[in-house]
Amino acid sequence: MSNLYDLIVRGGQVVTPAGTRKADIGVSDGKIAALEAELPGSAGETIDASGLHVFPGCTDGHVHFNDPGRTEWETIRTGSSALAAGGATSFFDMPLNCSPCTLDAGTFRDKLAVARRDSFVDFGFWGGLTPRNLDKLEELAESGVVGFKAFACFSGIDEFERADDYTLLIGMEKLARLGLPLMVHCENAEITQALTERAKAENRTSAREYEATRPPVTETESVAGLLALAEETGCRLIIAHVSTAAAADLVTRARNRGVDAYCETIGHYLIFTEEDVVRLGAAAKCSPPIRGEANRAEMWDRLRNGEIAFVSSDHSPSDPELKKGEFLRAWGGIAACQSTLPALLTHAWHGRQMELSDIAALTARNVSEIFGLVSKGRIAPGFDADLALVDLDRAYTLEPSALFYKHKVSPYLGARFQGVVTRTLLRGQTVFLDGKIIGEPSGRLLKPSK
Ligand SMILES: [Zn+2]
Repeated sequence: MSNLYDLIVRGGQVVTPAGTRKADIGVSDGKIAALEAELPGSAGETIDASGLHVFPGCTDGHVHFNDPGRTEWETIRTGSSALAAGGATSFFDMPLNCSPCTLDAGTFRDKLAVARRDSFVDFGFWGGLTPRNLDKLEELAESGVVGFKAFACFSGIDEFERADDYTLLIGMEKLARLGLPLMVHCENAEITQALTERAKAENRTSAREYEATRPPVTETESVAGLLALAEETGCRLIIAHVSTAAAADLVTRARNRGVDAYCETIGHYLIFTEEDVVRLGAAAKCSPPIRGEANRAEMWDRLRNGEIAFVSSDHSPSDPELKKGEFLRAWGGIAACQSTLPALLTHAWHGRQMELSDIAALTARNVSEIFGLVSKGRIAPGFDADLALVDLDRAYTLEPSALFYKHKVSPYLGARFQGVVTRTLLRGQTVFLDGKIIGEPSGRLLKPSK
C-alpha cells in the first residue's frame, strides 16, 4: 500500500493563528497537506512531536550575511545554518554589507548563485535604493527583490550611499508603481554625524557617550519625514529596527490615518538596556543604540498591542578585530540571528505570558503577509511545511560552541534561554536536528507574489 503522506509530524502542540492545539501534520511534496487532531494512514517518515510545540518556521526579514565579498565576516552558508538552528526557514538578505552591494540585476544574480549553492533555508533579497541606482529599481524588481532598503544616515559602507530626500521621494514614487515596499534605516544624518564628530574631538568614546551621539530624537525626526513621503507617494514603508516607543507611536498614528507603514523591531531592543551594553561592550553595539529601561518596557507594550509588525535579528556581524578598541570607533552591528525565537520564547512567553500564536505572527506570519509570500508563514494546508519543533520546558545557557556564526561573537552568549529548538524542517525536509545541520543546502529564492 502506498503512503498517504511523505511525512507525518505526530502529536505536537501546533501553533496556528487560531491558537495552539494538539494535532498531526501531514506533508506531501513539501507542502502541508493535512492538519487534524489525529491523521489516519501511513507516511514515508513519521516524526514524534509529543511533548513539543510546532511553530511555523521563522522568516528573518533582516540579515546581513556579507556574501559575496565580505565572507571573512559571515557567509550565507554559516548564516543560514545559524538560522536553521534557531528555528528559521527563510531570510531576507540586505543589499549591504556584501560586496558589491545589491544595486542592480547583475549583483542580484551574483548573490543568487551563492545562495543557491550554500543556503540551508529559503531566501529573499532586498535591493538597495541609493542616489546612484534610481534607474535600476525596475530591473531589481524584475529580478525578484522582496523590497528595497535605504539609509537616511551614513550606512557604515562607503559604496552604499545615504538616500537624500530627493532620492527617497523619486524612489518611493517608483516603488509605489512597482508595488514593492521600502525599508528605511531612520536616523537623522546631520545630527548623528555632528554629535559623533564632536564626541571624537573631545575624546568621549564610551558606550554611554556613543548612545548620546544618537539620541531618540534623531530617530523620531527621521521617521516623521519618511512617513510624510509615504503618505505623499503611496509607497509601502517599513521603518527598520525601531528602537523607541516614540517612533513606533508615530507609525501607529500614521497607520491610523491610512498610511501604509509598518514597524520592524529587533530582539535586542526588547531584551537589553544601555546598562547591558556597558557590561557587554562592542558585541552589543548597534545603531540606533540600545536605550534605557523605561523605553524597553514601553517597547514591550507596543509589541503586545500589535503596533510592531515583526521582529527580525538585524544579524550584522563583522571581523572581530573591528569590535576591539574604543566603543565609539568599534564596528556597529550585532550577531543574533540564531537567537530571535529562543529569546522571544524566553522573554515574551515565559517572561511576559504573550500568546504563542502572537510570537508566531511576529516571527513568521506577518512577514509573509507584508511581503506577499503566499506559501510561507503559517501551519495550514497548502502552505510550505516549514516547521520548528521546540521544547518549551528545556532551558540552556548559550555557549560559543553552539553558535553556527563564522565568529562566535554575540551579546546573547552566556544568556539563559528557556525553549530549545530541537528540529527544523524546510519544506518537509529536516535541515537541523539536535544541534546539527542535516543534509546539503537546498534553499530556494522567494519572490513576492503580485
Ligand atoms: Zn541592518
